[in-house]
Amino acid sequence: MRVIDKRSKMFWKKKRSISLYIPPKMCVGCGVCAEVCPLGIIALKYTAEDIYAVIEYPERCMECGRCQRSCSMGIIESIMK
Ligand code: SF4
Ligand code: SF4
Repeated sequence: MRVIDKRSKMFWKKKRSISLYIPPKMCVGCGVCAEVCPLGIIALKYTAEDIYAVIEYPERCMECGRCQRSCSMGIIESIMK
């Protein structure tokens, strides 16, 4: 688990320029993105008809891009802020 002290937290906040989005209708719920995220901020959501991934704490994302590179559907979008 990555430990972020107060100073580096401020650093990430300052440097963040993108926000990631997973379109729920396009996600097949394979869970690979959740497995590769080093911060563990992606989770699978279950409904009666569907399973899909969500980025639960987008404000903690360090923009490493692992989830995007590992998604076989290529659906994780970067939105410029
Ligand atoms: S970009 Fe990196 S830190 Fe952010 S959600 Fe994806 S894997 Fe996790
Ligand atoms: S890797 Fe892609 S398809 Fe699989 S759960 Fe994550 S976003 Fe959905």
